[in-house]
Amino acid sequence: MSQSDWVDRDFYADLGVSKDASQNDIRKAYRKLARESHPDSHPGDAAAEEKFKKVSTAYDVVGDESKRKEYDEVRQLAASGYGGFGGGGGGFGGGRYRRAGGAGAGAEEFDISDLFGGGAAGAQSGGFGDIFGGLFNRGAGAGGGGRQASARGENIETSVTVGFRDAALGKPVEIAVTAPSTCNTCSGSGAKPGTTPRTCGSCQGAGYVNRSQGPFGFSEPCPECGGAGTIIDDPCPECRGAGTTTRTRHFTVKIPAGIEDGKRIRLQGKGQAGFRGAPAGDLFVTVHVREDKVFSRDGNDLLLELPVSYPELIRGTKVSIPTLDGRVTVRVPENSRDGHVLRVRGRGINPQSGNPGALRATLRVVSPPAGAASAELAAYAEALDASGFDPRAGWQGA
Ligand SMILES: [Zn+2]
Ligand SMILES: [Zn+2]
Repeated sequence: MSQSDWVDRDFYADLGVSKDASQNDIRKAYRKLARESHPDSHPGDAAAEEKFKKVSTAYDVVGDESKRKEYDEVRQLAASGYGGFGGGGGGFGGGRYRRAGGAGAGAEEFDISDLFGGGAAGAQSGGFGDIFGGLFNRGAGAGGGGRQASARGENIETSVTVGFRDAALGKPVEIAVTAPSTCNTCSGSGAKPGTTPRTCGSCQGAGYVNRSQGPFGFSEPCPECGGAGTIIDDPCPECRGAGTTTRTRHFTVKIPAGIEDGKRIRLQGKGQAGFRGAPAGDLFVTVHVREDKVFSRDGNDLLLELPVSYPELIRGTKVSIPTLDGRVTVRVPENSRDGHVLRVRGRGINPQSGNPGALRATLRVVSPPAGAASAELAAYAEALDASGFDPRAGWQGA
């Protein structure tokens, strides 16, 4: 039985008793179930053997008063969402209690996700103490400086709209964000200028305290300083000790060349400032891209429709067309058809990452307005008639 199984197992249910059953009731329930499923009375019955094992494992833990207490603790801890157990989000493993910096942080840190994560999963049960004893003892060694990281600032979501060409070519864009920011008066310390916060005596600046329960060691936010690790006697008059004030900050966001509509850019540490100098959150900028009157895109290929007259299609011609950063002359071959695509390599979108695309110009025949046929067109029409060309030859509707 692995450790994570252990946390997920309900030994009370296995024994058919309630969580607050007396030791005597647990013993009675175990004896009854063990007798019923004992392998001696069911030779070769795998289901009975399985049940017998299950009941015995459960009784090994909750039948022993001190192990039962420890089991209850761990189950409660798991239920309270202190992460790590069975892959729940956040918690110790997710960094809520990961100590940011400071002497001794890391090596001896009590990290519950180490205990219930992949590490020793699959270890066979040798009894509760064998599984947890050595690991949990690490908790007692946790010490040193650092700060509880739960005071980290919130992330900020914002968006910016850029033109098609700016998105294709990349461009720095100014954005303004109004959010809690590091207090200018106290530089985030929360203490009145000229004073310094003193180290919390209860946790020696760690921001959390270790609590011991038998072989367990838990870390919890220090009740004295609320997890800050410091105590402020003279709060900053500007931010009243929070270390943050709400104001507008301006950032330059580098729009990477080739960015597509709806993509998000992350600016690490540019989110809301943390409590009393704790790390800031991140700023996420969703980029909306406006449509262009000439261009559209297909991946990194740049698309446009090139209007041509019918005579141009027939005789062929050279036309100057726009690109993202200038112009290029393309040749329309003679006898081209409406919908024919001219491809100019290397003149599409050249993205920050990925392969550069091509410029693809699709020929579109434009009819002249009524009554505007030129002498040239009239001559062309005559020549076409003279050639015996029948546009409906072979047409099924003829
Ligand atoms: Zn301040
Ligand atoms: Zn403290």
